[in-house]
Amino acid sequence: MTADPITRMVACNLCTGCGACAGAFPDAIRLVDDPVNGRRPVVAPGLRGQEASRSAVALCAGGATDWRSLDRSDVIDRDWGPVLAAWEGWAGDPELRHRGSSGGAVTALGLHALTSGLADGVAHVAARADDPRLNEAVISRDRAGLLRGAGSRYAQASPAERLGDIARGDEQTVFVGKPCDVASAQKAMQADRALAANIPLTIAIFCAGQPNLVATDRLLDRLGVPKGAQLTDLRYRGEGWPGLMQASWVDENGDNQTSDGIPYAEGWGRILQSERRWRCRVCADHTGAFADIAVGDPWHAPPSGDTDAGRSLIVARTPRGAAFIHDALRAGALVAEPRSRDVIARAQPNLKATHGAVWGRRIAMRSLGLATPEDRGQGLFRLWLGLPARQKLQSVAGTWKRVLRERLWRRVTIPGSAR
Ligand SMILES: Cc1cc2nc3c(=O)[nH]c(=O)nc-3n(C[C@H](O)[C@H](O)[C@H](O)COP(=O)(O)OP(=O)(O)OC[C@H]3O[C@@H](n4cnc5c(N)ncnc54)[C@H](O)[C@@H]3O)c2cc1C
Ligand code: SF4
Ligand code: SF4
Repeated sequence: MTADPITRMVACNLCTGCGACAGAFPDAIRLVDDPVNGRRPVVAPGLRGQEASRSAVALCAGGATDWRSLDRSDVIDRDWGPVLAAWEGWAGDPELRHRGSSGGAVTALGLHALTSGLADGVAHVAARADDPRLNEAVISRDRAGLLRGAGSRYAQASPAERLGDIARGDEQTVFVGKPCDVASAQKAMQADRALAANIPLTIAIFCAGQPNLVATDRLLDRLGVPKGAQLTDLRYRGEGWPGLMQASWVDENGDNQTSDGIPYAEGWGRILQSERRWRCRVCADHTGAFADIAVGDPWHAPPSGDTDAGRSLIVARTPRGAAFIHDALRAGALVAEPRSRDVIARAQPNLKATHGAVWGRRIAMRSLGLATPEDRGQGLFRLWLGLPARQKLQSVAGTWKRVLRERLWRRVTIPGSAR
């Protein structure tokens, strides 16, 4: 294989679609929304592309992360990444709580960063106005901008695309993304002091996997959106917890239409999750170990309906994350009660099993000569040993079957990329 390193990342199924490479080298690397493979980078042909790609791969957490520098002192930290403290709560602003995916905590923390003077902007993603099936990476500087991103987008999105702008500018910017996005941001900050100086805080959302555009189109079919209709809104979560999946569009007569909402459990469980990319199935960090703060759903105390008042699980992973949460609590931006540090395991039992299965999946892939991500010092083998025998076997044998069924040895190529 002779392609440049970023094209190889994509070809070997190691790319997560975070966008860091394209953000750092916008003149040589661009992102393409491939319906099947996800939002992926395409490197310009020639020397310019080769050089950019060789530099960009140093920022890319898709192929490798290093857990050895993370502060992990006990079994909770070793299982989940650093957990300094945990809370369960919601945004103090009722609209943020209502519009948020779980309790609106991420949006509330972002807004508090702006109003407290910690930051000038918040880098995050929002649905594209011209095509809400797709997402764009934006830097918001006010409440209205932040609200555009409230609620999870269960679709391909690349927030790290904004890292280049943050590095080149002179503003303080909070970075919000999935664990893989934040891992690339962290790697880029280690490589570039100017970038690190411009990011006072990172916030990760928990993530079980990112569905592709094919999944979004299947969801639109289920919601009864006519093919070719002008979509004006697509919501996956929010407006209550966990919220309904719902679409709006303009029909052939020019009238606005809105679908019935379907429950999150149906949308995620029966439609979206089966289209997660293979990279997500070998992902070793679903809860944002490299962030200052990580936020997810407190599933140990689930909502009784589809649109209950929202609640978020908020985890401080670094001292500066913990200090900022305390500040947000004092200011009333966040309303939350402390929880014991092991709440993360009670809230996300499925993700612990998923982390355990990853070691078996990667071994199965390596045995077939396929590339796998490398997460140095994470201790995946220990997590795998903790699985019941049946799940251990399944993690290896199931992967062999999947490799054959999905022909995962084939190179992923994105239209326009080098071959
Ligand atoms: C694909 C996906 C899978 C998830 N899986 C889990 C899971 O297994 N367990 C769990 O507890 N939680 C999961 N979540 C996270 C959960 O849905 C909430 O995002 C989290 O609880 C934060 O809620 P909130 O109300 O505090 O955030 P909000 O206030 O609603 O803010 C959400 C923030 O996340 C950003 N965001 C939304 N979608 C994306 C995206 N695709 N990529 C990058 N940034 C994005 C928005 O820009 C916004 O800033 C997942 C989210 C996504 C997008
Ligand atoms: S930096 Fe991100 S988008 Fe670029 S190749 Fe790596 S994982 Fe993919
Ligand atoms: S599962 Fe992992 S690799 Fe996939 S989108 Fe989520 S954090 Fe990124």
